[in-house]
Amino acid sequence: MIKAVTGTRDILPNDIPKWNFLLSIVESVFTKFNYKEIRTPIFEETSLFARGIGEATDIVSKEMYTFIDRSGDSVTLRPEMTAGVVRAFIEHSLDKKQNLNKLFYAGPMFRQERPQAGRFRQFHQFGAEALGSNDPLLDAEMIIMSYDIFNRLGLKNLIVKINSLGVPESRENYKKVLRQYVEPHLNKLSSESKKRFDTNIMRIFDSKEENDQKIMANAPLLIEYLDEESLQHFEKVKQTLLSNKIPFEVDTKLVRGLDYYTHTTFEIVSGSVGSQSALCGGGRYNLLVKELGGSETPGVGFAAGMERILLACENEKSFLLDDEKIDVFIVTIEKGLEKFAYQTAVDFRRKGLIVDLDYLSRSVKAQMREANRFNAKYVLFIGGEEFSRDEIVLKNMRNSEQKNFSKKDLDKIFESIKEK
Ligand code: AMP
Repeated sequence: MIKAVTGTRDILPNDIPKWNFLLSIVESVFTKFNYKEIRTPIFEETSLFARGIGEATDIVSKEMYTFIDRSGDSVTLRPEMTAGVVRAFIEHSLDKKQNLNKLFYAGPMFRQERPQAGRFRQFHQFGAEALGSNDPLLDAEMIIMSYDIFNRLGLKNLIVKINSLGVPESRENYKKVLRQYVEPHLNKLSSESKKRFDTNIMRIFDSKEENDQKIMANAPLLIEYLDEESLQHFEKVKQTLLSNKIPFEVDTKLVRGLDYYTHTTFEIVSGSVGSQSALCGGGRYNLLVKELGGSETPGVGFAAGMERILLACENEKSFLLDDEKIDVFIVTIEKGLEKFAYQTAVDFRRKGLIVDLDYLSRSVKAQMREANRFNAKYVLFIGGEEFSRDEIVLKNMRNSEQKNFSKKDLDKIFESIKEK
């Protein structure tokens, strides 16, 4: 038997309502902040991600689904959306149409990671990007929007972590200091961290190795080396969060080790989902648009993982959806009336009702069971003694009330169903 590829999952009909509920909240919150949806292709030229995410990152160096297509071009399934959104922004000169573009997206992403709870190879993210302004209010806005989305899902167990990476100049100074601090410990670091010493020194803070963490616990912190402008930017973000009732903590080790990241980084973690606890992450990237060939344009954004969010919701039982109901189930009592029943169903559907009926020549009892399984609000009986008197019977399943209608009066039946 052929099974779904490792790390990918089917979303079965029973799970769709919660996905749609999540998406409806995402869309509602983004729309209130006047963000507009953008959809970019699932795959892009490989070089976009190599440049847009960075060769030294785990994503690009180890996790991309890259293949050579039939024309011999190297393409990659998108591992995240920012690079694609920025490419589209540059390609369509969106900055010429308006100075500030506030965009949001939702869709599948692909990374060849080791599958585990909360980590998949095809997973779904939603997120936002604001391109064209360096205003710290927008950094705060990303955090406020994600927090509001989680709030509306009923999630409680959340921690907002923020940090500032400042501007590249102060970061370069800091890296020199960090290098001086790490160098004497180099022999004791894990091989991964040793590599990072050369490629991406700040990411040694991300190491999960206990010994690395011990060494880094006493390392100098970037925040102590920030210039005045960066400190002011960070202060404004914090003030904005406070005045908009977002609890947060400053996590000075929250680094994104790429040169085009500037100022704010943030992450929201949940205490309800085990070790893969980050529900979303983001930050400011004032140098990325230029890096990808556009004109210098400040940007800020975040991405959130939908599987993890839904897992947190499930573990916290944070929301309960009503059982899905259909409006009418048509029970056909006698052979020979299937055509009438079918036409009636199509007719009601075209008027806007959710209607189903039997396709398996089942007994009346089995049809009633089916009606109950679908939580039908009404059952319409076609056949029997009533039908020979040109009547059909409508049963309200909530209170078991029955009403007879002339079989020619489908409009009246429709009206009485619609009214309830
Ligand atoms: P990132 O783009 O790595 O900053 O990730 C943003 C968010 O996407 C994370 O906080 C997770 O919630 C989610 N995410 C990232 N990678 C995966 C994955 N492999 N499986 C499921 N969710 C993921």
